[in-house]
Amino acid sequence: MKTFYDFGLENRVVRAITELGFEEPTPIQEKTIPIALEARDLIGQAQTGTGKTAAFSIPLINRIATSEQKIVGLILTPTRELAIQVSEEIAKLSRYKGVRSLPIYGGQDIQRQIRLLRNKPHIIIGTPGRLLDHINRKTIKLEDVNTVVLDEADEMLDMGFMEDIQSILSLVPEERHTMLFSATMPSNIQKLAQQFLRNPEHVSVIPKQISAPLIQQNYVEVHEKQKFDALTRLLDMESPDLAIIFGRTKRRVDELAEALQKCGYAADGLHGDLSQHQRDTVMRKFRDNSIEVLVATDVAARGLDVSGVSHVINFDLPQDPESYVHRIGRTGRAGREGTAWSFVTPREIDHLYFIEKITRHKLTRKPLPSVAEALEGKQKITAEKLLSIVDSKEYGEYKALAIQLLEQYDSVQLLAASLKLLTGEKNDMSIELTPEEPVRVKKRFNDGRQGGHRRTSGGPGNHSSHVNRGQRRDRDRDRDRGRDGNRDRSRDGGRDYGSRKPQGDTAGKRERTYSRKD
Ligand code: AMP
Repeated sequence: MKTFYDFGLENRVVRAITELGFEEPTPIQEKTIPIALEARDLIGQAQTGTGKTAAFSIPLINRIATSEQKIVGLILTPTRELAIQVSEEIAKLSRYKGVRSLPIYGGQDIQRQIRLLRNKPHIIIGTPGRLLDHINRKTIKLEDVNTVVLDEADEMLDMGFMEDIQSILSLVPEERHTMLFSATMPSNIQKLAQQFLRNPEHVSVIPKQISAPLIQQNYVEVHEKQKFDALTRLLDMESPDLAIIFGRTKRRVDELAEALQKCGYAADGLHGDLSQHQRDTVMRKFRDNSIEVLVATDVAARGLDVSGVSHVINFDLPQDPESYVHRIGRTGRAGREGTAWSFVTPREIDHLYFIEKITRHKLTRKPLPSVAEALEGKQKITAEKLLSIVDSKEYGEYKALAIQLLEQYDSVQLLAASLKLLTGEKNDMSIELTPEEPVRVKKRFNDGRQGGHRRTSGGPGNHSSHVNRGQRRDRDRDRDRGRDGNRDRSRDGGRDYGSRKPQGDTAGKRERTYSRKD
């Protein structure tokens, strides 16, 4: 078995890797790092969750001479979320080496980015549209770049970034090291590789090596209206250490977090509308266990790197299988076991089959937890808490009262009453959440209600993954070409999928009106 020491990396790089808790290289890292350290071009077929980010980031960081004051590494990503995620991982991996990196993406104030560029980053992680903006403004120069990474290249091409990528790469010196990562290898990826890579090595791994095996994946069939009740019963029955609950929209997340709080759970919500400060506060509470249940949208949870998540609950089924894999990958980390539960409404069963087919994993069907099971779970927790006080012998002022009561009453009755009080009867609060439409495979847009989200309709017959990709493509393209890009007149870049305004039928089409020339 290989360790990170075997690659001959600098000590300060290995130290950062070790502190991140990576004990051994993942298969894609084992294959990629030696090739990349020799600066040989490579094509890596690997998906999210395999450790591909560290696979290209580690050799890149290792290679950089920090005394240099110029951009030497360029990473292209399809979306701002991925740019941020990659940038966060690079920051962690290079903390002892002092490599400077900067994410550059649409939807963020360009003046701010220009200011940050004055810090002379070594690595730029950017989405193609915004990067070209900077190149045109001459705020980014690529003449010193010696390493290029194309991350999720198939996604970038699906989003119509081929020309942008070609323009960018033509500005990077030919004498360079290029790595291309892609989950799939369609012909346009091969074309891109032929054009820009030199005798590349091919490496590939079977997807989802890190996350899947340790995660027990269950689903419960519930009607939309039963979901909240099902959720509280599940939380009571399973009593998770730390749980992440996924809701489809921001409104859903807000409503759910509030409803859970009302019912006495230590819950909070996370979505793209929160300020960085609010987000940090929620994350801190989650990390230090002052909240046990985090309700989040996909986008908000994407950069999330918390260990110890015992449960992931898909309160709403995600639209695409990749999001499903990403969501459940929040648990079962670092060799620990995790459980993922998905709520599936009767009309979403076909969608569940679709997810199972693409992820090549069958979920276990479970019955809705009964009231008795939920109560049993809660009682167990109460008893555990009670016994931990007995163990610690910290009774405070209560011992005298206990002795007094025991002289007058039966001990079993007294203890049962105490347990009842501590466990708390479920408040008969009527919680009404705004219902969500079921997810389906074929796409159409929503009914025009503000705060709604793009919905899908049509029969389950159309199980084509590129339809889902199409949706993501439009959405992510919007993000990249967001707010201040001067190209996007109606969309609010960088926000969660959930609260985007209705867009009419043309929104889903790939529009060349968004091309660079506009
Ligand atoms: P990625 O495929 O790059 O999205 O990585 C998936 C997750 O695996 C990230 O949270 C990484 O921090 C984590 N990871 C990457 N490499 C390793 C490793 N060698 N051991 C454990 N976790 C890792």
